Amino acid sequence: MKCTKCGEELLANAIACTRCGAPAEIITAEFIPEGDATGGIIPYKNPKALIAYYLGIASGLPLIGLPFGIAAFVLGIMGLRDRRRTPVIKGSIHAGIGIGCGCIFTIFWTLVIVAMVTALMSKQH
Ligand SMILES: [Zn+2]
Repeated sequence: MKCTKCGEELLANAIACTRCGAPAEIITAEFIPEGDATGGIIPYKNPKALIAYYLGIASGLPLIGLPFGIAAFVLGIMGLRDRRRTPVIKGSIHAGIGIGCGCIFTIFWTLVIVAMVTALMSKQH
């Protein structure tokens, strides 16, 4: 997170700004409305997790969902890593959904494609 007064990069659990001394309560106040575990709250400060979430949902699309699933999985992991580094950005739920859906649908659509290819191959013989 950044100090709202001077823009200094601070640790997530900082009590006060290391450069200008502004109390962290003021700095963190703007982040409070963004809960993490509650539904319907969007982690705008963690775009990777947010994109992973939407890609995770998009990965449910028949067949064309496969690239979305892979992207959701990768972005979800990146989002989780960002969230671990700076917990204040939130987004672990969204990243988790992205990884979960991405992973399941990637496997699912891969199996579907393999089954289709196998069926096509066996018809030719
Ligand atoms: Zn400062």
